[in-house]
This record gives sequence, C-alpha cells and structure tokens, in this order.
Amino acid sequence: MEKKRILLIGTGGTIASEMGDNGLEPELTSRQLLRYVPDISGICEIDCVQLFSLDSTNIRPEHWLRIAGTIRECYTKYDGFVISHGTDTMAYTAAGLSYLIQNSLKPIVLTGAQKPIGYETTDSKQNLRDAFTVAASGMSGVLLVFNGKIIMGTRARKTRSKSFEAFSSINYPIVGMVQDGRLIQYIRTESDVPVRFYGNLDAKVSLLKLVPGIACGVLEYLLERSSAVIIESFGVGGLPVYETGSFYETIKQGLDAGKTVVLTTQVENEGSDLSVYHVGSSIKRNLPILEAYDMTTEAVVAKLMWILCQTTEREEVARLFYAPIACDILSAF
Ligand code: ASP
Repeated sequence: MEKKRILLIGTGGTIASEMGDNGLEPELTSRQLLRYVPDISGICEIDCVQLFSLDSTNIRPEHWLRIAGTIRECYTKYDGFVISHGTDTMAYTAAGLSYLIQNSLKPIVLTGAQKPIGYETTDSKQNLRDAFTVAASGMSGVLLVFNGKIIMGTRARKTRSKSFEAFSSINYPIVGMVQDGRLIQYIRTESDVPVRFYGNLDAKVSLLKLVPGIACGVLEYLLERSSAVIIESFGVGGLPVYETGSFYETIKQGLDAGKTVVLTTQVENEGSDLSVYHVGSSIKRNLPILEAYDMTTEAVVAKLMWILCQTTEREEVARLFYAPIACDILSAF
C-alpha cells in the first residue's frame, strides 16, 4: 500500500524549545524535530513547513488564520496534517481551526509536549509518533492528540500544567486512543458534506470570569471594547443581583449597542443551565443573551470570532451559535 503523505507544520512550543538565558524558548524547526523520531518515516512520507516559532502564549487568531491558510493551500497535496504547537493555548487553536476548516475528511492533528524533545525524559517523541499515526489514518477533522488520547478540537482543554496527561476532553468522550502505535477509534468523526475553509475572524471577543463581589464596571469596560463578551459565571449559571441590579442594566445596554453576550460557567464539567435558578432564568427570559450549555469556553471564544465576522444580526448570530459544528454542542435548549 502506498504511504500516506503528511505535512508537518511547525509553530513552536515546548516541544521545539531549548534552554536560553531566561528559560525555555522555541528554537527547533519542524524538520529538526523529525530528526529525533526517524522511525516516523516508516509510518508515512513527510514534508515540513515552519510557519513561526512562538511560545503559544503569543499565538493569536491571526496565527490560526495562517495555519488554516497553509492547510487550504496544500489541502489536495496531502492526506493529513500535523501541527506541532505549544500546549498552553493549543486548545484555543484547535477550536479556532475547527471553525476555520469545517467537514475535513482529512485528519488535521495538533500535538505538542510538556517537556522539550531534547530532554532525556520527554513526552515529545511519543506525542509526535501518535500524531502521525492519527494523521496517516482514516480519521477526519480537527483533532488534538496528546498522551495517547485523541480529542475533538472543539472539546479539548489543558487541565494539567506540568504532567504528561495535560489535556482532557470536556463534556464529550475522547474519540480514540493510540496505544503502542495502534489506533483505537471509539467514535467516527467524518462528515458527509465537502470541506469548507473560512478566511476571517473577528478577534474582538472578551472573557470575564466572575468573582464574588466583582464590580459591574469591569463588564462595562469589556462591552465597550468588544464585539462579544463571554461571562463565566458560577455553577449552572446566573448573574449577581447586587442592591443596584447594575449587571442586568449593563448587559441590556451592551445588547442595545449591538454587542453579543454569552453566559457560561466556570465549572469545568457538565455545562450551564440558566433555567434552574432565579439568578439565571430571569436574565435568560428577559434579555436576548446566548448560553453556552455544554460548549467549552475555548470553543465559545473561537465560534464567536468565526460568527461575528460573518454577521452581527442577532437572530443569525444565535442560529449559527447553536448549530453544532464538529461536535461542539450537544444540549442546546
Ligand atoms: N509555554 C509553552 C507553550 O505553550 C508550553 C508548552 O508548549 O507546553 O508554548
């Protein structure tokens, strides 16, 4: 059988880092990474491209657009894509790519590592091997492969800052595993409509995590400067009603000015349900805000960026927001 052709896209991160004067910095190119895992050439044929070398702390929506643009340009030439990326914002990039490249039958796989590839003890080599195994498989769509787990790009979150088990799949099962080089797929990810690429994002999306007693002025500030504000509230969701009721008024003003407001929860698992408590249901019933339900905050951020450069018309924003893309939402309404 002919070997699959895979494009490795280097972007930086710990996996490619070396120790500098002030800590780890991305230095190695994607081609240099591959020299540490020569056995991968047994899995597939590989071409390399280095888009940038950044700690993912510095990766922004414009970089997601560059990655998506590169994949678009060479989509027909390759059977799959591996993106080596820093772990810190990998879940955001995975979500971003899930909206920028929809219905891909070819696998687009993000991976990285908690320890640099040059270290004696490192997860880099195994993660790269696993990522290529998935990229050369019949799986499809944007996936994040890490520590043997295969996670939907819209469901990933970094949940450990140091250990190898860095990522979890939130409110959705992992779609498969790679064990000793063998792919075990639990859930099919392919779609039956043609691949579609998008080339724009509205990056003016902000996130406000509530803390007890938070001043409403913080929300006002964000609404003035953003197209959309996501409010990570407590539990299943609700808004504080202090003596003045000012959160309600501030959101109303923001909505009247054409802004989008989404309520979600800061609890990691099981999502929001604004209908349960008065602090949630009163705002949901009275104002045209959106609710994230079981979506991850990373996916909500990226989905809003994707939606708001297409339309700001309220009903259309809501329709697109609640329409499932790449298994990002299961339980709206
Ligand atoms: N700070 C690094 C980054 O996100 C962490 C990592 O890659 O694990 O680029």
